[in-house]
Amino acid sequence: MIDVDALRAWQCGWLVAVVCAACAEPLPGGGGSPWVAPLDASETAGADTLPRGPGTSDTLLNLDGSPRSGEVSGATDATTGDGKADLTANDATPADTTAADTTAADTTAADTTAGDTAPNDTAGPDVQDTATPAPSGLTDPNCLDGLWSETLPAATAALDGVKATFAAKPINQFVLDLLAARYPTGKHLVEGGLTQQDCIAVFLQPQQKASASGVVTGLSTVVHECGHMFDFKKGGFSGSAFVFTPSLTLTCPGAAHQGNNPTFARSLIKSDEFYALRPACPKQGANGCDIYANVYLSGDPKDAKFESGDQGFNTVLEETVQYVNSLATGYAYADHVAGNISERDGILTFLWYVERYLRMARLQFPAQHKFLVGNECWRKAILTTWGRAAFFLGHTKGISKLTIDGAKIEPLVMNPDLLAEIDLVRKAHGCSGTP
Ligand SMILES: [Zn+2]
Repeated sequence: MIDVDALRAWQCGWLVAVVCAACAEPLPGGGGSPWVAPLDASETAGADTLPRGPGTSDTLLNLDGSPRSGEVSGATDATTGDGKADLTANDATPADTTAADTTAADTTAADTTAGDTAPNDTAGPDVQDTATPAPSGLTDPNCLDGLWSETLPAATAALDGVKATFAAKPINQFVLDLLAARYPTGKHLVEGGLTQQDCIAVFLQPQQKASASGVVTGLSTVVHECGHMFDFKKGGFSGSAFVFTPSLTLTCPGAAHQGNNPTFARSLIKSDEFYALRPACPKQGANGCDIYANVYLSGDPKDAKFESGDQGFNTVLEETVQYVNSLATGYAYADHVAGNISERDGILTFLWYVERYLRMARLQFPAQHKFLVGNECWRKAILTTWGRAAFFLGHTKGISKLTIDGAKIEPLVMNPDLLAEIDLVRKAHGCSGTP
């Protein structure tokens, strides 16, 4: 099995930490780094064309499409144990045996060339199908998240013609052409990232650059990392930008680790009661543990060293946005995946982080929670990200090669106590939320 995220998570955590460490000092004149909140806390929502929930009494759905019941209210306190007990039981499932296969070295082109000419075997939905609702209990079908829909990547579109141009074309153009063939939104994100830095050169691995099929296997990471670059560029000094699609960008104020309306260090969620259900892996290649925590939740905000986990909520959501893009790209090129990769694991883990962060904010940093949930831009950003995640999780549910340990992470996300945190965001946005 291939754990692309072991490598990607390292790259991302390193990247974000460096970006932040390099620009943590506010600029003269009251400006700041891309991660420092703007002085003007007014909302700067961009091309927002998404519908808002009608505020009717909605029914939330389980994964099988049945109505969710027995929900707890958003006001449940941190000591409620129902979901925790369920999850603990779930965690008792024997760990699988991916240890030997989860090294970064497994992402070599050689591992994936076998799928070059194979027909699409993902058994996914029709590529033009945008009407099929995601079979996800994550969303409220009548709120911003549940109403999300976009054109699916053309996962069965032929790539042979583009791949035949590999040797004759500059690598960046080759990447863009591959993305144009199946995932135009990914192309948009990479083009945007390239205006900030050559994110293809940085994040496409040497072995991936060596062949046409190798490049295809690197697209998911390239889209993810270039997506970061695009958001950094767009946000600038205005706040945190999230480019979801070519037609939707939100730029939200504050919620960085410093500046206006700062938010607490994301590493603190390791101290909550959910952490033990999937703790950080003790070493690379370990099973049944959180391979992302050591990268994204590292450090101690009380020490003098600025580390990845010292960053605030804006970066939690930024990573979540990009892990959606990772999964979307994984869907688009699943026919080139040999073995199993962790695309679903990444986004599921970050949905879990978002829930836990919001819960900790509400219980321990209520003023920060009030800011995030009270701010229309942040509500839209959270619910849009949530909806996109659910959309692609729904459409990849039957594609077993796109996950390694997702079956164990999904129940953590579905904990009613944690889902209630998203309900609170919906309610603040005018959706009725849990009956
Ligand atoms: Zn990232």
